[in-house]
This record gives sequence, C-alpha cells and structure tokens, in this order.
Amino acid sequence: MAIHLVLPVVASAMKTAIAVLGIGKLAIIPFLFASIAYFHYDQFDPENRILDVKQLLPSYDFIVVGAGSAGSVVANRLTENPNWNVLLIEAGGHENEITDVPILSLYLHKSKVDWGYKTEPQNTACQAMIEKRCSWTRGKVLGGSSVLNTMLYVRGNKRDFDHWVEQGNPGWSYEEVLPYFKKSEDQRNPYLARNTKYHATGGYQTVQDSPYNTPLAQRSFKQPKKWDTTSGISTERSKQDSPSTSSQ
Ligand SMILES: Cc1cc2nc3c(=O)[nH]c(=O)nc-3n(C[C@H](O)[C@H](O)[C@H](O)COP(=O)(O)OP(=O)(O)OC[C@H]3O[C@@H](n4cnc5c(N)ncnc54)[C@H](O)[C@@H]3O)c2cc1C
Repeated sequence: MAIHLVLPVVASAMKTAIAVLGIGKLAIIPFLFASIAYFHYDQFDPENRILDVKQLLPSYDFIVVGAGSAGSVVANRLTENPNWNVLLIEAGGHENEITDVPILSLYLHKSKVDWGYKTEPQNTACQAMIEKRCSWTRGKVLGGSSVLNTMLYVRGNKRDFDHWVEQGNPGWSYEEVLPYFKKSEDQRNPYLARNTKYHATGGYQTVQDSPYNTPLAQRSFKQPKKWDTTSGISTERSKQDSPSTSSQ
C-alpha cells in the first residue's frame, strides 16, 4: 500500500480517537503511529520490501546464492544490464523493525536472523563459555551478516591484499582493488573526501563519522600526533592504509 493510501487511514483513525477520547487524550497519537509503523513497517520504508518471485523462469543468465553483503551487490550490479535475468536466492527471511536500528544489532545475535553457529571447543579462547565454545554469529536474512554487524567501515589491510598476489592470485593487490573501494564509496566527511587518492564520493555506500560522541569517547580519541603529508592521513592509519569509520 502506498503512503498516499495509508495517510487518509491514519487521519481517519486520529479523528475517531479525538472524537472518542477528547482532545486531552491525544497522548494516544504517538502510540497510534508506533502501532501503524509496526504493522505496516515495510510500506513506510523508502526503499520498500523486496518481493519474492512467485514463479521462476525456466532459465536465468545468472543465479546468485546468498543475498548477503556480497551477493546483494553482485545481483544489483548484474541487473544493471536489462538484458540479463538474475535469480537471487536467500536462505533467510526479510528484515524487521529491530534490524534497522544499528545499536540494537547485539540483540539480533542468536535470533532467527542468525545461523546460530558455534565454534569447536577452544583450548586458548572462549574459556568462560559453556563447553569453551563461542557463538559465531552469521546473518541468515536478506542482507546477510551486514544486517547484524556494527556498520564500521573497515577496509582490509594493504599487506593482506599484496600477500594474496604473492600467493598466486593476480588482480588482488591493494593498488588493483583500491579503485573498486573508491567506486563504491560515498565519503561524507570532507576531511577524508578531499584525500582523493584513498577516498571518493558518489558511490552506493555512504560513509561518515558518527554524528555524536560521548564526552568520554571524545577524550579517548586523541588528535593524530603527526600527519603524513603524502597520503594526508594520520601516520597510524597510513601504516596499513585502512581508514575505518562508520557507514550508513
Ligand atoms: C557480529 C558481526 C559484526 C560485524 N561487524 C562488522 C563491521 O562493523 N564492519 C565490517 O566491515 N564488517 C563487520 N562484520 C563482517 C561483515 O558483516 C561480513 O564480513 C560480511 O557481511 C560478509 O559478507 P558475505 O556476503 O561474505 O556474507 P554474508 O553477508 O554473511 O551473506 C551470506 C548470505 O548467504 C546466505 N546463505 C548461506 N547459505 C545459503 C544457501 N545454501 N542458500 C541460500 N542462501 C544462503 C546467508 O543466509 C546470508 O544471507 C561483522 C560481522 C558480524 C557477524
């Protein structure tokens, strides 16, 4: 149902509530909105809910298994070509109201959007856990593990990429993957966006510093002592070329 169809229903419900309860009882309105948002959540979602197909085609140009961080991007890119039919298969269900609130992501662990894996018993880790086994959270939901992660924007370490090339994986050096990191990025922090060697704007993935830090956090983040004039980033970051910040 489109928003222009929902609004008259909300207006009518409010009129009824005022008529029945009187103007003093308007405190019901936030509750009313919360209820409506809860029961018709997907209709208020600007990106709206993806609909499952009811009938499959006899064949597809591409079948992507897993609609997680990688699969969703791959499927999106493939469907940019209107001549291709792409089937995206996901084992989990849809997101819910809680999954859209980043700070609640911890509550999603061990829920129905988590595969619920556990590590094997460990000798040196997970010592306080039952059977010395830790939970190994992985998303089982449209969006995959990105639905219950903490949204930190962390690029892989430069030396890891370069090591992959040394092990016989051409095309995976940091210099070769960097253009794709930049292509996907919409860096909203001007102090980073101006460093065009490492950052870019206009990509699908919005990246920005958290708009609010507690006073304690502000005291914890010390100003960089020294700036690398070639890269324009702090020496601590330039050591591994993996600037990290929040993505939204
Ligand atoms: C708790 C937690 C916090 C994290 N925090 C961060 C962070 O702050 N910053 C960061 O950069 N990274 C973070 N990560 C890591 C990041 O989320 C993952 O690296 C990333 O989401 C992995 O993407 P993926 O596409 O490889 O797998 P996933 O996103 O896990 O996608 C795999 C998908 O495949 C589906 N699937 C599996 N098997 C089948 C099947 N047989 N048929 C159909 N579908 C199937 C799954 O249900 C899932 O949806 C975090 C991860 C976790 C678990």
